[in-house]
Order: sequence, then C-alpha cells, then structure tokens
Amino acid sequence: MPSHDEIVEAAAILIEAARGFYDKNWMLGTSGNLSLKMTEETDPEGLQYLITASGPDKGALTPDDFVLVGKGGIALQPPQAKSSAETLLHEAVYQSFPDVVAVYHVHTVTATLLSIHATDDNQVLTFSNLEMIKGLGFDTHDVTIELPVFENSQDIAALSQAVRPQLNPNVPGFLIKGHGLYAWGKSPFEAKRHVEIWEYLFQFKLMERMLQVNPQAASQ
Ligand SMILES: [Zn+2]
Repeated sequence: MPSHDEIVEAAAILIEAARGFYDKNWMLGTSGNLSLKMTEETDPEGLQYLITASGPDKGALTPDDFVLVGKGGIALQPPQAKSSAETLLHEAVYQSFPDVVAVYHVHTVTATLLSIHATDDNQVLTFSNLEMIKGLGFDTHDVTIELPVFENSQDIAALSQAVRPQLNPNVPGFLIKGHGLYAWGKSPFEAKRHVEIWEYLFQFKLMERMLQVNPQAASQ
C-alpha cells in the first residue's frame, strides 16, 4: 500500500488538476471525478488508485477528499470511505490499458451537447483533419478519429462492462450521452492535455455545426 506521503503527493496533483478544470466551468456543482494510479503492477488484481470521494466541491478539494481504492472499487484507505459513484469506470480504463496512469472525468457543456446532438449512428463522434488532433498522440493532422459515445446509466457496474470492448488504445477518451467526457493519459500531464484537446475539438465541432445551421453567420 502507498505511504501517507505518496498519497498526499498524488492528492496534490489531482487537487491542482481539479482546480484548473473547475475554473474553466468543467467540474461545476461537485461534478466529475479524477484518479491517479498508485501501483506499478500490470497485474489487474494488484491495481490501486487514488480517486476523488463522492460529493466534494471540485474547486476546493483537500487531501481528505480522496479515497485509495483497489480492485472492484473497494475502499482501502480510509477503509469505509465512499469513493466517487463512477469509480468502476476508472477501473475499466486502468484494466484496459495497463500503461495509463491518470483518468479524468469532466462534465462540460460542449461534451454533453454533442453527445446528444452530433453523433454518427448514435455511437461515435468523428473528428478529422485538425491540427489539434495531434495533441491526442497522432503525428499528423491527416487522420479521422472516432470518439465512442455510450448511453448514460446509473448502473455504473453495467456501464463499466459495456465500455470495455469499445475502448481504443489510440483514442484516449469516451463520452457518456447527456453526461460528460472521460479521458486518460500515461501521466497526469498527458491526461490533462487530452481533456483540453477534446474540449477544443468539441468547441470546434459545436461552432462548425452552428455555422452550418446559420450559413449567413460565416459571411458576416
Ligand atoms: Zn459524471
């Protein structure tokens, strides 16, 4: 089990990330959750990660607002603590991609709007030929990527099983319809960068759609 100092250090990283997202209006009203893997083991049985507790204000987190959990979302430290209601979705990402170190989940207006109104076949959001796509780990803008979109559910255990077969190692994220974005990375910095890149792409697509609805706006 990680030491007290290691947990405080990890919490500090997540507190800073949450504060940044909160200040951008991406984690309002206690929404969203963040986690950081605390173990090196690739053995999924040994997985442990620090995750936000259920309920606190994401703009004012303290080290007491985190729970160390193990496989199955079981609270290890403090033992009876209640971690985020969406803990098992974090576990799904860590178990799918052993090199992932941080998983960030935010409720942004653009992600939520597009998840409802702009999907292809109700299953993916598509982006192509944009320079910012390179920030997701591609070495060229000249690609088309598909971001999976899943139906929202309050049965997180079932949802966490449903997402696993659809996760793509080259596309670090997914949307839950009418809900928000999950993104991840091999470091906390990379996870933060991916959240920001996705949000840029969402804002771009939303404005592009608005131009298409109102073409006169493009010529004014
Ligand atoms: Zn959520």
